[in-house]
Amino acid sequence: MTTATTPQKPTGYQVLHNPRLNKGTAFTEVERRAYGLEGLLPPAVSNIEVQVARRRAEIAKLDDDLQRYLVLSDLQVRNETLFYAVLMADIATYMPLVYTPTVGEACQKFGHIFRAARGMHLPITARGRLREILGNWPEDDVRFIVVTDGERILGLGDLGAGGMGIPIGKLALYTACAGVPPRYCLPVVLDVGTNNRELLEDPLYIGLRQQRARGDEYMAFVDEFVSVVQALYPKSCIQWEDFANMNAVPILTRYHDKICTFNDDIQGTAGVALAGVFAALRITRQKFTEQRFLFLGGGSAGTGIAELLSQAMTAEGMDIREARSRNALFDINGLLVATRTDLADFQKPFALDRAPIAKFVDAVKTIMPTGIIGVSAVPKLFTREVIEAMAEINERPIIFPYSNPTSRAECTAEEAYRWSDGKAVFASGSPFPPVDIAGRWFVPGQGNNVYIFPAMGMAVYATEATRVTEEMFIVAAKAVAEQVTEEDLSAGLIYPPQSRILQASLHVAERLATYIFDEGLARVGRPDDVGALIRARAYQPVYTDRSQ
Ligand code: NAD
Repeated sequence: MTTATTPQKPTGYQVLHNPRLNKGTAFTEVERRAYGLEGLLPPAVSNIEVQVARRRAEIAKLDDDLQRYLVLSDLQVRNETLFYAVLMADIATYMPLVYTPTVGEACQKFGHIFRAARGMHLPITARGRLREILGNWPEDDVRFIVVTDGERILGLGDLGAGGMGIPIGKLALYTACAGVPPRYCLPVVLDVGTNNRELLEDPLYIGLRQQRARGDEYMAFVDEFVSVVQALYPKSCIQWEDFANMNAVPILTRYHDKICTFNDDIQGTAGVALAGVFAALRITRQKFTEQRFLFLGGGSAGTGIAELLSQAMTAEGMDIREARSRNALFDINGLLVATRTDLADFQKPFALDRAPIAKFVDAVKTIMPTGIIGVSAVPKLFTREVIEAMAEINERPIIFPYSNPTSRAECTAEEAYRWSDGKAVFASGSPFPPVDIAGRWFVPGQGNNVYIFPAMGMAVYATEATRVTEEMFIVAAKAVAEQVTEEDLSAGLIYPPQSRILQASLHVAERLATYIFDEGLARVGRPDDVGALIRARAYQPVYTDRSQ
């Protein structure tokens, strides 16, 4: 008789319906006999290469990206190894399908395209019972949680429980871009309601039908979530994703020095911008501490990037006040100066002691920045006059229109290169195609957070880090910039090509892990070879022989 303590060998049928064990037609004849799979599969024995080719051909023939997203999601539910083998075979092609931009449409239509549930949906109506509910998750060792409350999904606003598409997609990138093993990853949505009327009236909406919880009730729910996660999964890292600013900043402030946690929208964004700056300096051949940046936009992205750049300048010996004065901000009401009465607390450290300036081009001519960074979400504000002024002031002006999506970019790649006579060192938030200017070929880079967060996850997982510190984003930024080759730089590319993301991420993870060991933040012993530790821990999408 089988008792509860003797694990039962899964039946062939169960193996076939377990995405982590399933190999589909690639089960060998020996395995088919051993598991009782004979007859449950067609007789032709395949292999993973053939299976990858079959799926890729099917996806390529589809008409639109949402259909491609669905084919990939269904594959993830059926056969996890094959899902990652497909993604990792051509990550640059599949990343925009499993994550932005396609995931945005998937989140908007989540209730309408809903198939198999994935991850944990934690409704605020279950307050006080989260331990019991999280206990339903089948894995008892969770290392990485991506969690959202769905309030600010990409640029699409409040999508309530439909925001679940984001943690699912993002975690797929932790695995595909840096090798974090999927079995340790848990996507979570904290369902606190939605203020999106369309969703509340949609009969197919999958979340709680109530207005968003706010204030003490909201924070008590987040607190309960964090403490239950700590109790059940003490080695885990929580990554906050797509919360509205009003909650994102207080949550990060509340936990960042108590648990292992980070917010990719705030910290990852700043890290990737800093990486762009470090690589750009390899082209301009200037010192970091000689730079002056002028930000168009003084919101969460602008102040977040400006603060990390300032911190990185202090790491090179500069005083923090001097460093912040080298990162000037310009918002809808003009340059941030001390005499302004409308500044929020988080903007005040960047207020300059100088006269107000109302026009951006005048601020450029007065401050004479070496780089301008656009985070205003308003298109076309980097005008011809602005770019020409930058090209007059600088031999190689740094021009980063980071606003997303493409339609919001402060200028296009072509405009930046053309108006600066090919002098601009350019990177953008959304992708732009290569540009030919007078016979010279320029390849614009995309400042995508994917260069930072998967590597951060891999380093934290491999070292069982206790904290994610601000300095780790500076370490990551330097390591990303190191991955840009001289050949990339000569084409103007200041981020590694996305096709090389796995290699780049493993390098960044190694640098981060070394820092984690140096700072005494690791919970595993330091190995002789940190790179070998990272490579040994990295997931690979290969079938294991289960017939033994
Ligand atoms: P936010 O709303 O917090 O800030 C917007 C800022 O722009 C505000 O300071 C506002 O005053 C300013 N602004 C608006 N209109 C202006 C105008 N006409 N002139 C000058 N300033 C103006 O938004 P946010 O969260 O900081 O995001 C801003 C942009 O940055 C978005 O487009 C977002 O997609 C982009 N972003 C890009 C990345 C990335 O590429 N990795 C990451 C995060 C955010």
